[in-house]
Amino acid sequence: MLQSRSHVRKTRKGSVIKVVRELYLREDIGCGVGVCADAVCASGVRTMQALPANANKRHAMPHIIVPDTNMFLHQMDLLEHKAFSDVVVLQTALDEVRHRSTQMYARLRAITADVDKRFYVFSNEFMRDTFVKRVKDESPNDRNDRAIREACRWYAKHLPSGISVVLISDDADNRRKATADGMFAYSVREYVEGLTAFPELVDMIAVNDDADDAAAKKISYPDHLTPSQITAGLKSGAFCQGTLGISFHNFLEGSIYTKVDGEDTSVKIIGRTHLNRGVHGDVVAVRILPKSEWLRQGDNVVLDAEEDDETLEKVDPNSLLDASAAAVPVPEQDDEMQTEETEQRAAKSGDWVRTGCIVGIIQRKWRPFCGTIEAPKDVSSDSGSSSQQKFVFFWPMDKRIPKIKIRTRQAKQLAGQRIMVAIDSWGKQSLYPMGHFVKALGNVGDRKTETDVILLEHDVRFMPFSKQVMSYLPDEGEAWVVKEEHLAGRMDFRHLDVCSIDPPGCTDIDDALHARLLPNGNYEVGVHIADVSHFVKPGNAMDQEAATRGTTVYLVDRRIDMLPSLLGTNLCSLRSNVERLSFSCIWEVTPDADIIDVKYSKSVIRSRASLTYDAAQARLDDPTLTDPVSTGIKLLNSIAKKLRAKRMANGALVLASPEVRFSLDNDAQDPLDVELKEMKDTNALVEEFMLLANIYVAKKIYSVFPDSSMLRRHPKPSATNFESLIKAAAEYGIEIDPSNNRTLSDSLDKAVLADEPYFNKLIRIMTTRCMMQAVYFCSGTLAPEDFWHYGLATDIYTHFTSPIRRYADLVVHRLLAACIGYDKTYSSDLVDKVKASELSDVLNFRHRNAQQASRSSVELFTNLFFKNKVIQEEGFVIRVMKNGFSVIIPRFGIEGIVHSQAAGPKGSTDNAQLLTHDAVANTLTCPTTGAQIRIFGKVIVRVSVEEAGQEAAQRSKLVVKLIEPRVPGLSVDPVEVQKVKVDVVPAVVDIPGVGKVKTNVGETNRVTAEMGVVSGDAVETKAGSTGGKGAGKKKGGKK
Ligand SMILES: [Zn+2]
Repeated sequence: MLQSRSHVRKTRKGSVIKVVRELYLREDIGCGVGVCADAVCASGVRTMQALPANANKRHAMPHIIVPDTNMFLHQMDLLEHKAFSDVVVLQTALDEVRHRSTQMYARLRAITADVDKRFYVFSNEFMRDTFVKRVKDESPNDRNDRAIREACRWYAKHLPSGISVVLISDDADNRRKATADGMFAYSVREYVEGLTAFPELVDMIAVNDDADDAAAKKISYPDHLTPSQITAGLKSGAFCQGTLGISFHNFLEGSIYTKVDGEDTSVKIIGRTHLNRGVHGDVVAVRILPKSEWLRQGDNVVLDAEEDDETLEKVDPNSLLDASAAAVPVPEQDDEMQTEETEQRAAKSGDWVRTGCIVGIIQRKWRPFCGTIEAPKDVSSDSGSSSQQKFVFFWPMDKRIPKIKIRTRQAKQLAGQRIMVAIDSWGKQSLYPMGHFVKALGNVGDRKTETDVILLEHDVRFMPFSKQVMSYLPDEGEAWVVKEEHLAGRMDFRHLDVCSIDPPGCTDIDDALHARLLPNGNYEVGVHIADVSHFVKPGNAMDQEAATRGTTVYLVDRRIDMLPSLLGTNLCSLRSNVERLSFSCIWEVTPDADIIDVKYSKSVIRSRASLTYDAAQARLDDPTLTDPVSTGIKLLNSIAKKLRAKRMANGALVLASPEVRFSLDNDAQDPLDVELKEMKDTNALVEEFMLLANIYVAKKIYSVFPDSSMLRRHPKPSATNFESLIKAAAEYGIEIDPSNNRTLSDSLDKAVLADEPYFNKLIRIMTTRCMMQAVYFCSGTLAPEDFWHYGLATDIYTHFTSPIRRYADLVVHRLLAACIGYDKTYSSDLVDKVKASELSDVLNFRHRNAQQASRSSVELFTNLFFKNKVIQEEGFVIRVMKNGFSVIIPRFGIEGIVHSQAAGPKGSTDNAQLLTHDAVANTLTCPTTGAQIRIFGKVIVRVSVEEAGQEAAQRSKLVVKLIEPRVPGLSVDPVEVQKVKVDVVPAVVDIPGVGKVKTNVGETNRVTAEMGVVSGDAVETKAGSTGGKGAGKKKGGKK
């Protein structure tokens, strides 16, 4: 039977055309219910069973569920809950969800793919008995509602007796019509209240009204404009659009980065009314305010943290820091690391900064948030009546997100727990957004719970790999071996004395090396990288999962792999004495380390030895060893040193970051010790060759695919980034010259104070913070002069050497395989400029998140380490502010803020300042004793951990207090020094080494985590993301 469906479509030029689609309506679509005896159904997919009798008190008969479109759009948290199964997903609803929300569509697709959920997609639009034609004067919405009812009617008639069909819809009119036709129809609340086995479900119902708030309070935000009004305003230039970013230090201050009159600029949005219900991350439309309301750059506008009043505005322009930011360890200060955007935003002080107000929301970017609820104030009234839902406030961990009002009947049980909450709506008469409970994660302060929170907050996918992903692993499993059939097109390097050098306990070995003397007196050097692309084919489920994860994530006590461990730690891992597939770069170099030839080839190797850095160092240091592996290492080392000298002469930077590692208790994995990391000669050796491989592969892929190569660049930082550092160093007679990387590198080498050995490292740490982040990009989107990698001083760069744990490298392997003709059938997607560019964005996002998650993990362990300890330590001032200063404590690699005001009422920001700020000299001085705080000055501080209140979502935080110099009213008493075992290794880590040093789990059970603001992203290395490599491998990996 043929049906024609038509719809109108707007062409790119703006004319409207009618699209008519012929539709063949079928009769052979099954109902999807397992017990159905119908011949058509029996031969089709049967995912549903029907919910048993008494599963729902409201509807005690066995039944299947048919939700309407809105339920899929708004109640996905419920549908994902285990209480919901045997659900018919009508095509009508599925199509509409796909058009209206990509996010919800993806979640719905994930449910329908999960066989245990027993969701069934019913193609009602293609079926003769359920197809519904739109009648005259019927709105598309009404037509769809009718189609849904029609499908319900068909099911009711079709299903074996004893199984009923339940329509769930919050549309009263739809329910009324269904009931009038003799069908069962319930609202979401009615149905969920019947699921008495899962009382928490009631809390998970999304609320889309906020009438409760409106009556009590006389608040009203300005109306949001409609999409068409916004579009018109953007077109006419009346509005501008951008992604709202809220300040870490002040949740009532936001900004967007946008174009105004053709000029890239940032627009600040200050205060509740102007923010007008915009949430961090939303894409918003903004109207610029008149110039009389603009701000001067450098004006401090900080709003009070106390926000229980009902007014929309409360501005306290006097303070630089908000009251809750007492002390933060280094990792938290993500905003210290300048991204490219912030650099461009940076304006000279004194410049005018535009301000604006949000007139409409273009796209909400709400995600589920982790946090805690405000403890119920009236505990007695809560007891006994737990069936009663009450409003409580939820405080998100992310300080940029406003508190959220939720309705719950579990307030008492949830107090003291980490929970997850989703925002549902934010009406104009509601001071705060409304949301619903999603799930409980565990107790506040519990290490496992807090780690889950870190992963969730950074959007790290940490669930086990699905069956579908695992199905793409080789059938032989661990028994897989290199066979003759794999060798076609590969160089056979099994005779070469290849070895790998990694931290102890490293199981995912993705690189190995060799070097040998050639008959002509030159040397051959080979870098062999795990051939991951042999196992991960483009587009399959495993590839898609890896692309989504983007990178392996290293936490202090856990590693979240990008690929299943069978590949990562076995089949791809270049272990010793097993044959492994690899992708090799082979150079011929002169004795002066001039490169005269390079070859790229897929290969097969058999590593002779998997060495630790220490073991390799020992071979290097022992002149008596002449075995092939030792000789090779010595050769590699001498070539590496020459290559490195050339790179340095070229202006490559030597930076630093305070890096620490934790010693974990064997069983509880509680941190026992923390110490700074160390860098060995052999680390530098390996890194030198990885840099070489990455640079050469970048050149190669770019030469063949100039428009679509995945490259990596590190932009030059803006001169303004260095202003305060230059000024502070000048006070000590030190000149920092950031004109170019060569001058910067030279001036850093000269930045030495005879009486302060830590000074040079301090300067390098602060220089690192002036840097931009390195990013992936598609070569076709930028001019070649923008490919520049500032930190490494190279024209072109990419990531090739870590395909086990970085997806970018896997893509680069595919590109290189296509370049050298090994892969002649590569997909056009691989060289699609638009797709490559989108993928770069995703990978940059994933890498940033992974780094922030690592830092948060270090922060968590730092806090655990300091728990119940009060430690006195030496620190250096690295930033001076109007009402406080920050101190870096080298021994622990942490940073804290000391407030310089007298203690006063909680939340108060206008207590007496105990130090006088001199803005010109950038110092703080004690008026009575004359003691002075200035950048690079040495101070003695007390470090402890305090439990924060609910406003800070009950995060424990490091508190740093001043001991010396003595400032009456501010300084605290010295503490008896606790003996903490720490090996201080004051190593200056050079640029390649700024990335994380591979960890020492394994026999010593030490885990490394990077502490610094710097990460492998600012500065590149082979070890760029190896921090904590091997972490979590203990006891089979704590996944
Ligand atoms: Zn059937």
